[in-house]
Amino acid sequence: MKKLLVIFAHPDDESFGPAAGTLAKYAAQGVRVHYICATRGEAGEYDPDILGNHPDLAHARTAELFEAAHTMGFAGVYFLGYLDSGMEGSPSNANPRSLYSAPLEEVAQRLATYIRCVNPDAIITHDEYGWYGHPDHIKCYQATLRAYELLYDVKIGTEALDEQASETQIPTLYAASFPKWPIKLAARFLSLTGRNPRKRGQNGDIDLVEIASWEVPTTTRIQVGDYLAIKQRAIACHRSQRPLTATGNPISRAFLRRIEQQETLYKLYPLTSKRARLETRIF
Ligand SMILES: [Zn+2]
Repeated sequence: MKKLLVIFAHPDDESFGPAAGTLAKYAAQGVRVHYICATRGEAGEYDPDILGNHPDLAHARTAELFEAAHTMGFAGVYFLGYLDSGMEGSPSNANPRSLYSAPLEEVAQRLATYIRCVNPDAIITHDEYGWYGHPDHIKCYQATLRAYELLYDVKIGTEALDEQASETQIPTLYAASFPKWPIKLAARFLSLTGRNPRKRGQNGDIDLVEIASWEVPTTTRIQVGDYLAIKQRAIACHRSQRPLTATGNPISRAFLRRIEQQETLYKLYPLTSKRARLETRIF
């Protein structure tokens, strides 16, 4: 039975993130999907009414993640134990227990222990830009790469091509990413309608023009259309967080549904030959 290890920063990245359909698909096909979540999402925005019996947001979001993981059929969920950080400049980043402030080597060592226990066949983490520039996502990406290098004695980006590495028994490492053309379209549309694409999101700290320039190569494209209903049910478990896909007019919802049909990954190790065709599956 294959094992897929997912390493993301927050309880909801597995459901809102660009690999949710892929995770639901492989879990449904019998792959054992394990999730290492670096924080409990303490810094998320929330409405105090949603806490219910939970003493704080971390407890509420932990429970939401377990519910979402059960919905997606994950085999296990583990927490690295760091505090959630905010976007660049946020006061919570100064907390020494935050993922933001933690030394990279320490996070990597902690991750390596978990990776060794799970002993996966493939690993998926964030992309180098942290999807939309979130410092926790970037730290998670960097720490995962470092842990991988420590555990498997390789240097990412410099060694074995696919064919040469097929003999080695180390997991394939992927970054989950998303296509940038819809972001470019959205930024242009906002500009044309008199809104500033460089100051989006609740706090105005999302710069769509910059995000659109963060191109990540695609080595792997997974069809996930049959698993979007599971993804939607998992998203609905995160009641304290505003769903990203449930808003908008019918045209943008239809547009989003079309984009969601396939998800893209970038294989970080082993390297793929430039001439290689796009992969359509992980296993
Ligand atoms: Zn996140």
